[in-house]
Amino acid sequence: MKRLLLHICCGPCATPIIPNLNSEFEVAGFYYNPNIFPETEFENRLASAKKVAEFNGIQLIVPKLPGVIPAPDRVEGKAPTGIYVGKGLDSRLRGNDKESGNDKESGNDNGYESYLDFIGETKKKPERCLLCYRKRLAKAAEYASENNFEYFSTTLLISPFQYHTELKIIGEEIAHKFGIKFSYQDFRPLYGESREISKAMNLYLQKYCGCKFSRKRK
Ligand code: SF4
Repeated sequence: MKRLLLHICCGPCATPIIPNLNSEFEVAGFYYNPNIFPETEFENRLASAKKVAEFNGIQLIVPKLPGVIPAPDRVEGKAPTGIYVGKGLDSRLRGNDKESGNDKESGNDNGYESYLDFIGETKKKPERCLLCYRKRLAKAAEYASENNFEYFSTTLLISPFQYHTELKIIGEEIAHKFGIKFSYQDFRPLYGESREISKAMNLYLQKYCGCKFSRKRK
């Protein structure tokens, strides 16, 4: 069976996606979300992701280090894919992230500072979110390519609140760079179901997207 690494943003979003993919792939979950602030929120979402993975009988991988981010083909202005990647992104995309994600503000260790470093001055939506996707998906693709997964995907594809078209483009671009495939499906019709299952499973349901900007509704 084909192996697929599923980037999991939180347990609720994974609830209908894992069973959906399980019929076609051997699925493993991958919880890499250094964008989440504060650490208590990170832990709450991780706990729900673990519960959903266990319920569906899949492994959940939680990497410790932020890792290498692939360089884009162009680093300023409009990328070939049409994604605005912002000015001055070159060094951040080419280099390794810091190994420790200690956050000065919260003292946490989930990599939040590496997320802040990565977005740099790009604080506004949608550009900030596109960088956020890129960081998380690149780490997932890197892990997948090094561990014999042929495919990767993300539970972010279920959210009607994310930039869905851009997610697909970024996923495919990153997959290409790592020599694997991005398994794209529009899971948004399953969003309502995911909330129902989550309530039935008594999962933690977050009230904001993840970063501290989104916490302030920015
Ligand atoms: S709003 Fe969500 S997707 Fe956008 S940068 Fe913040 S955590 Fe990432």
